[in-house]
Amino acid sequence: MTTPTFKHGCEFSMTIGGELINTAERLDVINPATGEVFASAPRAGQKELDMAVAAGQRAYGEWKLYPYNERRKLLAECAKLITANVDELSQLFTAEQGRPLAMARDEVLGAALWLKGMGMHELPVEITEDTDARRVEVHRVPLGVVCGIVPWNFPVLLAFWKISHALLAGNTMVLKPSPFTPVTTLRIGELLNEVLPAGVLNIISGGDELGPMMTSHPGFAKISFTGSTATGKRIMASAATDLKRITLELGGNDAAIVMPDVDVKAVAQQLFMGAFFNTAQICIATKRLYIHEDIYDEMRDRLHGLAKVLKVGNGFDEGVLFGPMQNKLQYDRVSALMTDAREIGLTVLEGGPVPDTGYFLPLTLVDNPPDDSRVVTEEAFGPILPLLKFSTIDEVIARANNSEYGLAGAVWSKDIEQAVAIAHRLETGTVWINQNLQSSPTTPLAGHKQSGIGAENGKDGLLEFTQPKSIYIPKTQ
Ligand code: NAD
Repeated sequence: MTTPTFKHGCEFSMTIGGELINTAERLDVINPATGEVFASAPRAGQKELDMAVAAGQRAYGEWKLYPYNERRKLLAECAKLITANVDELSQLFTAEQGRPLAMARDEVLGAALWLKGMGMHELPVEITEDTDARRVEVHRVPLGVVCGIVPWNFPVLLAFWKISHALLAGNTMVLKPSPFTPVTTLRIGELLNEVLPAGVLNIISGGDELGPMMTSHPGFAKISFTGSTATGKRIMASAATDLKRITLELGGNDAAIVMPDVDVKAVAQQLFMGAFFNTAQICIATKRLYIHEDIYDEMRDRLHGLAKVLKVGNGFDEGVLFGPMQNKLQYDRVSALMTDAREIGLTVLEGGPVPDTGYFLPLTLVDNPPDDSRVVTEEAFGPILPLLKFSTIDEVIARANNSEYGLAGAVWSKDIEQAVAIAHRLETGTVWINQNLQSSPTTPLAGHKQSGIGAENGKDGLLEFTQPKSIYIPKTQ
């Protein structure tokens, strides 16, 4: 199947204050499987940003007064609308992001799941004292207009990890997708206009200049950012000017530890998908795979066997499991890392053939490179995975923790008690045992070290979009 034609065309609009807004200057949107432009998005400047912030501020006055349950119901309506349009949205997603269609569909449905799922949390008034003399109530109040900034690897789900939290807590939002993947989010913004009051959710698109313009805009009360650690640091500095609240979900270099008691044949494919899903462009992917020496050779050979047969290609084609790199910049970065691994003499185990259009790279393993090689120390964010041999638990924990990142990790073993003990010693915000890449509206995802500040998801994630407000009420005059 080739790229489909889209019923609403390929010229997308921003949603600001309930209106569809365009700009004369446009951003080209490239299909990474072909390398060709297939759509365009508006290029917002200061004028459109000011309009969006003003629309958010106007809407905030009423939205924060909506009863919590009403906001919850409206978000559930939004979820229904996204689900009803899943076919169109997932095709757009595959065209701009590259991920195979069935998995694109899962991400679009994930947005709906979060819009509904975050509604499981309540924001009750907490009574911290209730004596004869006084009663003290702690309310959770919204912050104002929130700035959301999103990367290109999970453009829709990560947008809705922000939108669901911010709106449920009573804030309004101006959200900016990545310049590489704006169109599915812009289209969802148009759709949600049918349900949400004008100005509650504003979606704007723009080039590299728009992000810094947003983080320095005095009209925002908070910045919720997902992206690289380097950009996260710039955003934190920018937010300091007027002490905006921040939530930062940043990079990772996650370790998975595979103990000698696993069934190699049974877990190999799960380990492989935990590293290479979305062509390894996932913050919480396994990026360092530590395998016990007793099973190392067998596991390496099985993983290499999978790399040779699992299909990389255009996400619209049948049987494809892995799409292209999402953009040329990332393609060049990861290609350079692959070249470096070869040039310094590492043993590189290459996967099967890939198309010669667009930004495709082969699924690649590196056989037991030294701990200080770039392929181990850097977040590749692409399909090159170091396999690392270990002998003792103390040794592997020290090596896994030897990273400036602390996003997530995994332990694979039949001995669950021992796996839990290892999990407690890993310096990461999340650890999975015998599974990978799990997240849920029930549970916070929070990066340790330079992987982030604050949390998304779970009650903790929702509270990040509120401020405690304590009221002391005397019982006697
Ligand atoms: P990026 O930091 O380059 O860009 C992310 C977003 O920030 C984009 O929308 C971009 O336009 C914007 N931006 C860039 N510079 C900015 C600035 N100075 N001020 C404000 N905004 C700016 O990241 P990316 O390459 O799009 O995404 C990949 C990175 O994101 C990886 O490091 C990955 O690990 C990380 N990530 C983290 C999580 C998480 O939950 N922790 C999830 C997904 C991705």
